[in-house]
Amino acid sequence: MYSIIGAGIGGLMTAIAFEKAHIEYQVFERVSSFGDVGAGIWLSPNALQVLDYFGLLQEVQQNGNSIDRITIGLPDLSPISDSPQEAIKERFGYSTIAIHRGALQKILVNNIPREKLHFEKSFSSIENSQKNITSIFFEDGSSVKTNFIIGADGIHSKVRQHIFPNSKTRYSGQTCWRGIAHTTLDSEFDHRVYELWGNQIRFGISRISEGQYYWFAVALDEANKKDNPSETKIKLLAMFETFDSSVLKLIASTPDDKILRNDILDLNPLNQWHKNNICLIGDAGHATTPNMGQGGAQAIEDAYYLSHIIKQNSCDDTFQQFQKKRFSKVNSIVKQSWTTGKIAHWKYGKRIRNMIFKSIPNKLVIKKMLDMYEIDKFEL
Ligand SMILES: Cc1cc2nc3c(=O)[nH]c(=O)nc-3n(C[C@H](O)[C@H](O)[C@H](O)COP(=O)(O)OP(=O)(O)OC[C@H]3O[C@@H](n4cnc5c(N)ncnc54)[C@H](O)[C@@H]3O)c2cc1C
Repeated sequence: MYSIIGAGIGGLMTAIAFEKAHIEYQVFERVSSFGDVGAGIWLSPNALQVLDYFGLLQEVQQNGNSIDRITIGLPDLSPISDSPQEAIKERFGYSTIAIHRGALQKILVNNIPREKLHFEKSFSSIENSQKNITSIFFEDGSSVKTNFIIGADGIHSKVRQHIFPNSKTRYSGQTCWRGIAHTTLDSEFDHRVYELWGNQIRFGISRISEGQYYWFAVALDEANKKDNPSETKIKLLAMFETFDSSVLKLIASTPDDKILRNDILDLNPLNQWHKNNICLIGDAGHATTPNMGQGGAQAIEDAYYLSHIIKQNSCDDTFQQFQKKRFSKVNSIVKQSWTTGKIAHWKYGKRIRNMIFKSIPNKLVIKKMLDMYEIDKFEL
């Protein structure tokens, strides 16, 4: 029996993968139910191939919006780097999809038998009774016995703290506001996403469905600062006042209480993702900054590879094999994403930076994307 701690993107996807592979499992989630979670998310073709493999692609496509062009630009929308996604579509049959997180979560939850998903079970601690029989204790005082534990409890993972107490998150120095605006923009935003780089601030725009746009705003700030919710909008409107009018329209048409704020963190890369009968996946094992839109995609890839490796092997080193398979790709994304975030907020040399970005041949940008989106092909 595998016990998955956490029903985020990684935990839910692992449950779906285990279900299809006939691996015995149960999922334990801290919250009592899923509300209207988060803002939007981009699902890149590596994630979509996994969703396709498990028969969920169509539902995701129906609930999201296909991205045909990715533009990094200046505040007035003029491009610094512009990447049409035709070559990506040609290779995989689809390009990135932007979707509401709540819609994605609903699709994943609906594909897991209800009796295997346990809410209000906040992981507290572990006790080993015999080899490969572990008791998991929850905050409510209850416990279960299990053979293996998959820690999918996010960047502040308690499971990780239990096995690697010295692991540390890193604050990037950047904080991020996100929202969903119900409005309409010019048709050029229909299938084109923008990330606009200003003076140490940036703003991202992508349509997730008809009349619904996901946006994010990033700025430098100290860690753990909070806003007075009634002032967030005014503050953001002032911060982005020199940006294109679409930016101001998106901020203005998002209700104050629906604007989320999170500091941008990642996890100082671990040397090891597993110990004894416990394995970490997704943000619990390798949280990345969101600059490449890959955190969720990597959690989804984890589920795909882990279930395959477990299904193929009966030996003891399954988790080591999983780590060996995933380590290098994941760590290179974490590193690249961290660097991209720093470059986007450069104080000096912005003109040179933009010129360098402009001079990079589009073929090279697309080649990097194609490489990152590639996954191994397995038979169901
Ligand atoms: C601003 C921002 C934008 C992003 N944009 C993208 C994007 O466009 N594309 C992309 O691929 N990724 C993106 N990401 C990254 C992505 O959100 C994460 O990588 C992804 O959610 C990780 O999934 P996870 O399941 O590992 O963790 P989480 O989604 O954090 O899920 C963890 C789950 O564990 C539960 N939990 C926590 N503690 C306990 C406990 N003690 N017991 C039981 N349950 C527990 C939580 O309630 C939660 O349900 C973004 C991240 C940020 C911050």
